Amino acid sequence: MAANRFPEGILFKLYLSYDSGLILSLTLDPCSRCPIFRRISQFCKQLFDDNQNNTETTQAGLSLEVVARKHHAISRKQISENAIKVLYRLHKAGFKAYLVGGGVRDILLGLEPKDFDVVTNATPEEIKKLFRNCRLVGRRFRLAHIVFGRDVIEVATLRGHHVDSGEKISKTNAEGRLLRDNVYGTIDEDAERRDFTVNALYYDISDFSIHSYGGGLQDLESRTLRLIGDPQKRYREDPVRMLRAVRFATKLGMSIDKGASEPIYELAPLLKDIPAARMYEEILKLFFNGQAQNNFTMMREFGLFEPLFPLIETLLKDDPKDPVAKMANAIMRNTDERVNAEKSVTPAFFYAAMLWYPLSQRADDIALESGLSLYDAFYAAMGDVMEQQCQTISIPRRFSTPAKDIWQLQLRFDRNQGTRAFKFIEHPKFRAAYDLLLLRAEAEGGNVAKSAAWWKSFVEGSEEQRSVIARSGSKGKGNRNRSNSRRRSPKKTSKPAE
Ligand code: ATP
Ligand code: MG
Repeated sequence: MAANRFPEGILFKLYLSYDSGLILSLTLDPCSRCPIFRRISQFCKQLFDDNQNNTETTQAGLSLEVVARKHHAISRKQISENAIKVLYRLHKAGFKAYLVGGGVRDILLGLEPKDFDVVTNATPEEIKKLFRNCRLVGRRFRLAHIVFGRDVIEVATLRGHHVDSGEKISKTNAEGRLLRDNVYGTIDEDAERRDFTVNALYYDISDFSIHSYGGGLQDLESRTLRLIGDPQKRYREDPVRMLRAVRFATKLGMSIDKGASEPIYELAPLLKDIPAARMYEEILKLFFNGQAQNNFTMMREFGLFEPLFPLIETLLKDDPKDPVAKMANAIMRNTDERVNAEKSVTPAFFYAAMLWYPLSQRADDIALESGLSLYDAFYAAMGDVMEQQCQTISIPRRFSTPAKDIWQLQLRFDRNQGTRAFKFIEHPKFRAAYDLLLLRAEAEGGNVAKSAAWWKSFVEGSEEQRSVIARSGSKGKGNRNRSNSRRRSPKKTSKPAE
């Protein structure tokens, strides 16, 4: 850039512009002796500065770029009304308030954010005083939830680095995992503690600028997931970040940069130490977000599936004809189809289907070892398998109980003659059990496929057709002694609930 003095008070400058064109600009000289020129020049400078992106570096060496409102595409209209209310209330009370993370990232990507997270320099207690509809939650991270009916805006206090501040505030275990983390700090420190650069984007409600740390905006543009800080250390601090890498890569169509992907193979077993209750939530985010199939494949590639689903991984063979692999892929595909069609999905069915082959295997083993009937062994195996799975992912009872119902009902598909079939389709869990039968048929073929075909014609048949089909059913092994005289024709029939 070259600058030359022209008439008093006016500077002309030659710029080499961004796209390599030459620009001649005339500006007012701020050093001019004329006060009017000086004032106008200061005003212009302010305007000019307002239009420029400001780049700095944080103490820990993370770059910070502040992008003024005019240079980015986020408008308040794209942010939920409740999040805006929270941001303004904090701002008007004299606190700093930013929209952060996925909310900013997704708007910039043209996606609809799943939720809006707010961060502020107000402490949880100060937030509570400002909002009547506020609930303080969390121990590991103390957070404020501002509740608007079913909508909850999560407000966190800016986090600082966990120095020797005493166990009450922050705590790590022997592997470097953070157990408690309530040290408050500046926005720079908060950014240094976020996981990926694309998540370290802050929308400042005071001037509508975006603060982008570590090149987050550039990484967003090149669709790169880059961890902030030393990847080994960041994964050890919180191994769930490895699962987040997979989830964001598939959900946002991003590639995980080498620095963030390479350590995963070695560190994946650290997931075993994550509390099972937290894992339950993370698994829902991975498999119920419409990207189950891709997440499943990528988790297995990185070795992240085994520590969470050891019972399934030991049975999985890398053969596309393997029934266990076929079943797992079918569940993932099925769940994605339902989520993308906005149909309901339930963890009860998901876990019942995922764990079906570990259950069958365990039932066979128990029967062999103990001499119990296959039926009794099956019941014993249900408890064993569920308990073992809950050691890594705690499945709430409201889902594990119906999952066991779905398992038990598989035994009833063999006994389908006469009224039995009519009674069975009235069972509240019939539809889920039938859906699992169809997946098993797809995975195994053989007799299960024959049984599924029979049930399919029964389920889809008219009432008259059903009566004919029911006569061709089987009594099943468990009912060998029932006399024909006890068989009644059905009084009432109905199609199973969708
Ligand atoms: P989405 O809500 O779409 O799942 P998100 O990025 O908003 O994505 P959240 O779990 O809502 O994810 O977290 C909000 C923000 O908090 C993240 O963007 C990230 O900056 C930060 N964050 C969340 N979990 C972690 C973590 N385990 N380690 C570091 N930072 C995290
Ligand atoms: Mg979020």
